Amino acid sequence: MMENEELLLLDLKGLEKSPYMLRREEIPDTVCEVISEDERIAITGRIKKLLKEQNAVIVAHYYTDANLQSLADETGGYVSDSLDMARFGHESDAETLVVCGVRFMGETAKILNPEKRVLMPDLEANCSLDIGCPIDAFSAFCDEHPDRTVVVYANTSAAVKARADWMVTSGSAVDVVRHLKEQGKKIIWAPDKYLGEYVREQTGADMLIWQGACVVHEEFKGLELAELHRKHPDAVVLVHPESPAPVVAQADVVGSTTALINAVRTYPARKFIVATDKGIFHKMQEAAPDKILLEAPTSGRSATCKSCAHCPWMAMNSLRKVEQVLMTGENEILVDPDIGRKARVTIQRLMDFTKGRPVALASDA
Ligand code: SF4
Repeated sequence: MMENEELLLLDLKGLEKSPYMLRREEIPDTVCEVISEDERIAITGRIKKLLKEQNAVIVAHYYTDANLQSLADETGGYVSDSLDMARFGHESDAETLVVCGVRFMGETAKILNPEKRVLMPDLEANCSLDIGCPIDAFSAFCDEHPDRTVVVYANTSAAVKARADWMVTSGSAVDVVRHLKEQGKKIIWAPDKYLGEYVREQTGADMLIWQGACVVHEEFKGLELAELHRKHPDAVVLVHPESPAPVVAQADVVGSTTALINAVRTYPARKFIVATDKGIFHKMQEAAPDKILLEAPTSGRSATCKSCAHCPWMAMNSLRKVEQVLMTGENEILVDPDIGRKARVTIQRLMDFTKGRPVALASDA
C-alpha cells in the first residue's frame, strides 16, 4: 500500500502541521452481537436483576444495538444523543450508570457525576474524532492562537474538553458559535472538519478548523445520494452535519440525531433517505412505524470506513458485555479529578446555554 493511501482522515493543510494521522489499521472491523431470541431473553432477565440490585441504569446512544436500546427503555434507563445522555445521567438517582456508547460519553457522564460509578461495556469503544484530536498536539495548536475562543465538539477526550472554553454538540454548535460571533470572538474549532465547515457556513464566524472526521459520516457520497434521490423524488433527505458538504447540500433537514428522529416523526412525507449511522433506524422506526427509511449510500469497496454506515466502536457495545461489567464491576470510567473539574466547566457552559432551549436544533435546509 502506498503511504498516502494509509493516511485516511487527517489532512491538516489549513493547520500547517500534521500532528496525527489516523491509519486504516486503527479502525476496527464492525462486529455486531449475534444472539438467539432465547439467549436474549435469558441475558436481559439477568441484567434486569443486576440493575435493580445495584441501583443502576443503562444510558445508551441511538447508534447502539437495538436490543440494548430496548433494554434501556424497559428498565428506566435512557436512549438519546450525547448531550441528553449526559443530562439524564446527571438527573438520575441511580448510583451506577452503565453508559453504552463510546469512551467520551462515559467520561462526560463521570465528569458530571464524580460521585457515581460509571461503567462501560467496552473500554476500547472509541471514536475517530476523539482519536484524531490528541491533547498534546491540540493544546500546542491552541497555544499558537491565544486570541481565539476554543470550541470543541462533544466527541473529544476529557483532557481536550479541559483545554477548551466551550463544548458543543451537533444540535447546539450553530447557536453557540453564532452567540460567540456576536460577542466579536474568533474561534478555534475541533475536531470535526465537516461540522466545522457547516457551522462556519451557517454563522459566518472566523474559525480555524481542526481536520478530524467521523469514519461513518465521511463515507456518505454526494453523487450516489443524488442518484438515489432521483429514484425516490418523494423522499425527504435527512443528513447529520458530520457528513461532507456535497451530502449536506442535498439535505432537506440537517440536524443532530434527535432532530433527525423528530423529523421522521413530524414530517408528513412517507419516505426518508437517512445519512447517519444506521443504528438510528431503531428509534426512527419506533417513532414512526409507517414510514419508509432508506440508507444514504456509502462508497462501498473504496470506503475508508469498514463499517458501511455503522460505527465500529458503537458496535462494541453488547448485552453480553453489559452483563459482564455488572457482574464484575470491570470497565469503570475514571477521570483525573483536576481534568474533570476543568472539563466540567466547559460542559456546564453548554448545559446552561441550552437550558430552556429545544434540546436538538434542526435546521431545515
Ligand atoms: S459514529 Fe462517528 S462520531 Fe459517532 S462515535 Fe462513531 S466514529 Fe465517532
